Formats: sequence, structure tokens, C-alpha cells
Amino acid sequence: MDIKENVESVMAKVSAACEWAGRDLQDVSVMAVTKYVSAERVEQAVAAGIKHFGESRSDGLLEKKQTIQTPAHWHFVGRLQSRKVKEVVHECDIIHSLDRTSLAKEINKRYQGETPIACMVQVNVSGEETKAGIAPEELENFVRSLASYEHIQVKGLMTMAPHAENPEDVRPYFRHLRELRDYIQRLKLHHAPCHHLSMGMSNDFEQAVEEGATIIRLGTSLVGNETEREG
Ligand SMILES: *Cc1c(COP(=O)(O)O)cnc(C)c1O
Repeated sequence: MDIKENVESVMAKVSAACEWAGRDLQDVSVMAVTKYVSAERVEQAVAAGIKHFGESRSDGLLEKKQTIQTPAHWHFVGRLQSRKVKEVVHECDIIHSLDRTSLAKEINKRYQGETPIACMVQVNVSGEETKAGIAPEELENFVRSLASYEHIQVKGLMTMAPHAENPEDVRPYFRHLRELRDYIQRLKLHHAPCHHLSMGMSNDFEQAVEEGATIIRLGTSLVGNETEREG
């Protein structure tokens, strides 16, 4: 697996998607999701110019962060158990999976910092029962309720699209998330500037960028998956 080649290929596709959509390439951050790979792969991704890293487990986050010497941005992207909050809350720049009041409460209680911690509210746009996230019709109330947690800043929305053979099939979910983001932005809530859209993974990131993603989360297509055989 040549990560440098992967990065080049991904960047070419992101660049084409930006051009298609009339967007600025600077407005899209590429995150490497490293949950399936060793710290060595993370080092290679750093060397290839990747600056954003995502982990879905607290021990993975702490372990990878320790081994990487170069400064980077760390993101927590997985389902976050309340009892793990204290381990990650000072170790990442953005939590992408704020999906319930009890979690907001715990983050607010554990976080100590001058400025609030950046969070994305996870939205279940597809309505699949197995997916985490706030239902679209409950989003406004949920975001408004977060005003009472002084340490939380809602930087944007995040979603996991359903798996589809044809990535064009998930485009409507990305579009829906963008519309929800625009709606929340228009409320001009002090605690929720909500300009980010964290959406798009290995299979569907081009569609996500075309629909306005500002952070794409790539595992397999960028750093691979060492828990499976790679061909
Ligand atoms: C694993 C994971 C990804 C990356 O998945 P790939 O399909 O391998 O790109 C992105 N987002 C979240 C929340 C994940 O858990």
C-alpha cells in the first residue's frame, strides 16, 4: 500500500469534485481515519501531507497520538460512550459524534479549557435504526438545547450515509445534511455557528464534496485496512 499514491489519487478526485461544484479546494479537509491501521501507516500519511486524523476508540486515539511526533489535528469520529469522555475530551480537536443530551452533559462536565470544545452534531439523515444520530426533525430543538452547556461549541453537522453499491444513491442524504446545516446556520445561535459538514467516506467522498462536505473521513481508500487482506 503506497499511501503517497493514495493521497495523490484522493486529492485529484477532491479537486475535480470541487471544480465541478464551483468550490474552493481550501474549504475541504481530508481526514485519515486510522482505526484499522498501525501507527506506522499514520506516520506514512503524515509524510504524505495529511494533517487531520480520526479515531473511533479512545485507546486508539491516545496510542496513535503518542507515536506521532508531527503536530496534527485529531478527531474523534466514533460512537462515544459517556464513560470514555474524560479520556478523549482533552485529546482531540473535534468530537464528530455528539448525538444525545447525556453525552453533551458529560462533555460539558469533563471539559476544561479557555475556549469551548468543537463538536459536530451527528444526524441520522437516512433514518436507519442501526445508525446513531439525531433525527432531522429533532435537530433544531437539540441544537438549541446545547446552549446551556457553556463548554460546547457546535461547529457543524456530521452524518454516516447508508452503504450503497452506487455512491450516487447516497447523494440525497448529503444534500439533506447540507440543507439542515444551512437552516441551523440561519438561526444565528451564538453557541452554534455550524459551518462544517463532516460527510463522505471512502466509497462516496466525491459526491459528498460535490454536495458541500468540508471534512471528509477516509479510512480504507487512504490508509488501507490492515485487519483485512489487501489486494
Ligand atoms: C471507519 C469510519 C470512517 C472511514 O471509513 P472508510 O469507509 O474506510 O473510509 C469514516 N467515518 C467514521 C465515523 C468511521 O467510523
